[in-house]
Amino acid sequence: MYPKLTEPSILQGAVTPVPIVVAAGNGIGPEIMSATLTVLEQAGASLDLQPIEVGEEVYHSGHSAGITPEAWDHIRERKVMLKGPITTPQGGGVKSLNVTLRKTLGLYANVRPCIAYDPYIPVRHPSLNVVVVRENEEDLYAGIEHRQTDQVVQCLKLITRPGSEKIVRYAFEYARRRNRKKVTCLVKDNIMKLTDGLFHQVFKEIAADYPDIVSESIIVDIGMARLANAPELFDVIVLPNLYGDILSDIAAEISGSVGLAPSANIGDNYAMFEAIHGSAPDIAGQDIANPSGLLLSSVKMLAHLGQGDVAERIHNAWMKTIEDGIHTADLYRSGVSEQRVGTRQFADAVVHRLGQFPSNLQVSSYSNDVMPPVTLAKRQKAQKALVGVDVFIDSSDVTPERLGEYMQAMQTEALQLVMITNRGVKVWPDGFPETFHTDHWRCRFQGEKENQEVEHAQIVKLLSRLADSRIDFIKTEHLYTFDGEPGYSLGQGQ
Ligand code: NAD
Repeated sequence: MYPKLTEPSILQGAVTPVPIVVAAGNGIGPEIMSATLTVLEQAGASLDLQPIEVGEEVYHSGHSAGITPEAWDHIRERKVMLKGPITTPQGGGVKSLNVTLRKTLGLYANVRPCIAYDPYIPVRHPSLNVVVVRENEEDLYAGIEHRQTDQVVQCLKLITRPGSEKIVRYAFEYARRRNRKKVTCLVKDNIMKLTDGLFHQVFKEIAADYPDIVSESIIVDIGMARLANAPELFDVIVLPNLYGDILSDIAAEISGSVGLAPSANIGDNYAMFEAIHGSAPDIAGQDIANPSGLLLSSVKMLAHLGQGDVAERIHNAWMKTIEDGIHTADLYRSGVSEQRVGTRQFADAVVHRLGQFPSNLQVSSYSNDVMPPVTLAKRQKAQKALVGVDVFIDSSDVTPERLGEYMQAMQTEALQLVMITNRGVKVWPDGFPETFHTDHWRCRFQGEKENQEVEHAQIVKLLSRLADSRIDFIKTEHLYTFDGEPGYSLGQGQ
């Protein structure tokens, strides 16, 4: 019997049921959720389930984020959510529910284990066994974008010290608790010296607290290439949001099927568990979807809730099912698989094997998986000093020399023109005639002496001169030093 999702219900195991929210989602969501809950119930999970409606129909009923206020109330009260995939309607005015949930609930860590189950699920890299820990809230995903000139748009990449500390410490704690030996940080700090540089710096600081775990940092491009080619070089990988988004899909892809990989979204107060795949409308309603991604996500949820014994039972039974060659259509290979089964049959096969262990795959253990909340290090605030300003100008019919002359005429006794760049390349003074120019110019003004402090009023005075001369300044960035170190890039594009 499959539990109904329209009414609250209780799965009564050995301990007091833990309240959670369940969102079946769209497409194949209801089928795989039903299969998952069947296994959870039979395995002895103790859960007090509150179903909520999210996704397609909620969008169409006029809620632009795909979720109702009542559903938010349930999530706030229960704090843990098991979620099926959502179909995001195409077109403007609609917000991604996943992004909204992650940001609103402060789910800063996206944890995605990717494991090969070769030879039962044949893959190119049988030794693949990595956990991708992706920062989930910051970076280019802050969604702060502006069009500034006819030719140029920008997206702000925000990397914060608290955000980096939380995710990096989470990765090391995860590694320690799951007996993993190495944490690798992937960044591009040879180019983005301040943003990725901060993430790398925090990584080095926190790694020092975990001498029992090997730590290394690799430039993200070669790191991703190595993961695709030699995943055995990696164990736990921690990285900023955008790189993590890309890398976790590469890792999931090489692990065999998009239907397999689970994910956990973890915050200080909330957690959300979901498969990595989407709502697969092409196979919805046919009872052929693989429920494994959601089932293994629910295993991570049980471990998070302190029901590690039930998590183990399910994971081991699931591996035994895979070893026995009971495979859904996405995994079925003649000569390797024994039986092609549908969603319900697969869940029944797992239930049938509860209490059994895999014969060859590594037996799963979740006994020590409850993670402590991450605490941030106390540190002294740096001494901040204002030493100049970058003024961005929109102009399409100017040469660097002409703009240089014009801007020099604007400078004040406190703020003098130091350089002009276009797309980060210095074009004044002494630019190269070959350099291509857009209509987006950065003019840097600083005091006469190095690190000479200036006041906000002096910047206002400079801007006011520009305004009087009808120069279209489109934005400014103040230049600060922190404990004497420049808090800005020095301006030569690389
Ligand atoms: P998808 O992951 O839904 O499907 C990609 C391919 O993988 C399809 O051929 C599908 O049949 C197959 N597939 C996916 N899950 C499977 C499973 N469990 N078993 C067997 N086969 C499976 O990606 P898509 O088609 O690009 O997206 C469909 C919808 O899902 C879109 O509306 C998208 O926005 C949404 N989406 C939601 C989430 C989420 O809610 N977390 C994630 C990704 C995509």
